[in-house]
Amino acid sequence: MSQVYIALGANLSNPKETFSLAIESLQLAGAKVEMVSGLWQSPAWPVGSGQPDYINACAKLSYEGGAPDLLAILQRIEAQQGRVRSVRNAARTLDLDILDFGGDILHSEYLTLPHPRMLSRGFVLFPLAEIAPRWADPVSGKVISDWIARLPLADVGPIQRLGTWRY
Ligand code: ATP
Ligand code: MG
Ligand code: MG
Repeated sequence: MSQVYIALGANLSNPKETFSLAIESLQLAGAKVEMVSGLWQSPAWPVGSGQPDYINACAKLSYEGGAPDLLAILQRIEAQQGRVRSVRNAARTLDLDILDFGGDILHSEYLTLPHPRMLSRGFVLFPLAEIAPRWADPVSGKVISDWIARLPLADVGPIQRLGTWRY
């Protein structure tokens, strides 16, 4: 059984509703959802792109299978929620990323663990810190509070916690 952290993100349709459906689908697919963070709001990247704000959250899962199996499940759930892949950073109904899969370090064509861009993203680190305050990056061993302290103030400023949600 692996302990896994995933990130949820959405900036189209009804993110809260979409996240609830995604959590339900994850449970049906055999991932046990142990904990879910609050909802956080941040401007779409890059600044000035004119896209709707993002809603983000993180969840802690227990999962029996391997990381590639979980990635396939996440991609199926994204597709069910109407995710269309076009250009990079395009607006989306749902993005589900694996942040940390049991502390594994992996670089394959389809999967990089831990998630390669998570450490510079306040919209990932803030919700993750709520459910895993002692989490440490498996590569450097550096704790999450250290990574948060390194975020540029200008990036952190517009990130807001919206509150908890029922799923
Ligand atoms: P970013 O990775 O910067 O958050 P994104 O989530 O918008 O961008 P996607 O279009 O969702 O990018 O995914 C692109 C590819 O990333 C996927 O096809 C998947 O194979 C790959 N990928 C690599 N590592 C991971 C990971 N840890 N979690 C999810 N997808 C990953
Ligand atoms: Mg992503
Ligand atoms: Mg993704």
